[in-house]
Parts: sequence; C-alpha cells; structure tokens
Amino acid sequence: MLYKNTRAFINGEAFEAVDVLTENGVITNIGPDLCGDGRDMGGMLLLPGLIDVHTHGRMGLGYSDGESAVRAIVRDLPKTGVTAVCAAIGGAGAAAIHAALAGVDAVRKSPEAGGAQVLGAHLEGPFLADTNLGAIARDSLHSIDMAFYREMVGKHEDAIRLVSLSPELPGAAALTEYLSARGITVSAAHSSCTYETLMALRNAGLTHITHLFNAMVPLHHRAPGLPGAALAGDFTVELICDGVHLHQGILQLVSKAKDPKQICLITDATQGTGMPDGEYALGSTAFIVKNGIARMKETGALAGSTLELDAALRHMMAVSGAKTEDVINMATLVPAREAGQTDRGRIACGCRADLVFFDEAFFPIETIVQGETVWQKH
Ligand SMILES: [Zn+2]
Repeated sequence: MLYKNTRAFINGEAFEAVDVLTENGVITNIGPDLCGDGRDMGGMLLLPGLIDVHTHGRMGLGYSDGESAVRAIVRDLPKTGVTAVCAAIGGAGAAAIHAALAGVDAVRKSPEAGGAQVLGAHLEGPFLADTNLGAIARDSLHSIDMAFYREMVGKHEDAIRLVSLSPELPGAAALTEYLSARGITVSAAHSSCTYETLMALRNAGLTHITHLFNAMVPLHHRAPGLPGAALAGDFTVELICDGVHLHQGILQLVSKAKDPKQICLITDATQGTGMPDGEYALGSTAFIVKNGIARMKETGALAGSTLELDAALRHMMAVSGAKTEDVINMATLVPAREAGQTDRGRIACGCRADLVFFDEAFFPIETIVQGETVWQKH
C-alpha cells in the first residue's frame, strides 16, 4: 500500500512530510512524491504502532487464561493504537505458569489475524520478595531456583522477552546473568532492595525497572534504594502514566533525570481494562474497579491499571514537559528495544509495517499491522 501525503515520525527522530510504501508487511520506501497510486492521507500524523511490554489483559480476560483468551485480547487492542505486546503473566506454581506461557507462545508463533502481535511473555514473578507485593498474590511467590525455572518454562524459553524479579533474593545475580546471556531483559520489581544491591545487579545484566516508584520502597535521600538507583544508574524505567499511579511532578522529575530513550511507557493493564466499573479477578485475587481505578478488594492497594497505552502517551505529553517526539519513542522505539526487537518501533525502510494514523490530539484513527488495516475509527 502506498500512503501518500502523511506527516510521518521517521526513525524515532522527526516528523517529515512524506509518502510511505509498504509491501508484504514491510516498509519498503519513504520519500516525498513516491510514484504510483495510493491513498491520500491528507497530511495525517503517522506513527509506529504502539508497543506495550507490561500488560496483563483486558475485557475481563488475562494473558494467563490460555490461547483463546490471548487471541480475544489482542483482537481488541488495535483500537488503542497498540500493534504489539509482551504478555505479562504470573500465577502460582510451575504448572500454572507453564500453561500460561504455552498459550502466549501459541499466539506468538501463529499470530491472530486482525489483532496486535504477541512478541512473547513478560514474567512478573514468581521470583519476587514478599515486602512490596502490590497485587501479586503471596502464594505465587517462589525462591530463585533453576529447577523450578526449567519446570515452569519447559520448551517455551524462546517466548520469554522480560523477567521481573526482586534483586534482593538470593540467587538474583546468577539468574540475571543466565537470562541476560539469552537476550532476555531482566527487570527489578516489587522490591525493597538497596541502591547498592541494584547497582551490583546492573553489572550482572539487569537493565530494566518495572513500574518505577510503584511496589517499591520510596526514595529517601540517605537511603536512595531502588528508585534512587533506577534514576541515577544506566536503567530503562517503566512508567504507568494514568494520572493515578504517579503524580505529574514525578513524571516531570523522571523526564528531567533520565535520557528519554530510557523511559518506557507501559499500562500494567488488568482484566478490568476496557470494562465498566465492577469486581474482577487477577488470578486468585479479587479486585474492584471504581471510577476506572483498580484496587485490591482486601487491602485497597492499587491492582494494576485500566490504562490504555494511547491514553498514557497523551497524559505524558500533557504533563511531563518532555518533547512530543521523545514521548512517542517512549511508547514505540524504547519498548521495542526492551523486548529485543530491532525491526519494530520506528518508521524506516526494512522495518515491519506496524503503523498508526493519529489525529492532532493523538487519538488513533487507523491501525495497521504487518501492512494490513486491522482497525479504523468510524
Ligand atoms: Zn504487572
């Protein structure tokens, strides 16, 4: 397809008035006045498809609920401008995690037509400390144990893109070295670890921080802990920009402290996303969504979000003070890199034709996955 007369965000750098040609699901030419018949897009904004590396589900379904649930979830995502995800999964016991991974891996290998693509899994647990659980069920936790890891992963290790673990657990450095050597992004999560512990794990290959400031000790000036090390060190930090999980002053602080290429917008969306207020289940844990805010029924702790990634993009643009171009990369180029993808997250020749047309207020108008329009605003 030849898209004529777009304002495309080229290669993660700048908007340019160009035509964009896609063939066989790949971007093959970009330039002014390309020859051939095409669709006149009227100067509309064209962005790479948004990529969410930390999302648990939507529409009452979770990525841990098996292949047909994963297919239903990804069919519903293109209306939010999302063209690829890493499915966040957890669960209690090796067998449950293995079953969840199998469902995610099936859709990764055989993508759902008309849906967002599954890049693989983001294992949030079970190797987590019990001090900052958030919505993680206590009975799902496990000490770091390679035999348990092999049992839960089985033949699906290729499907794992990210692993969130607590740096203070015994064995965290060895597991980090093992995973990072396999190209899996290792992330610090749900933790009360010290600055020194996190910095030591950076040397072992831990490069990512799961929802910075949420489910971790707060920043203290004499004991900077995980958030202090995450801001000061060479880490990419996830942010939940829903206006609830993080104050806008924190978004401004992070924007000033970090290289924008080290900020990764995520949703941490749960089953209640895209649904009316009500009661939902996250594995064995009940949570209640009220006014779009998900909280655990028992403790009142925030239980993931009901955030959509396009809304996160708009919120970050509105309140953080970061440049528009930088915020776009935070939801495209950066998550692609964190998921180990080199041919996604930017508009360039040779990259996959995963594209979204947006209006001037950054609401999605049309979503394209591998060169095919999968959703259009009516
Ligand atoms: Zn999560």
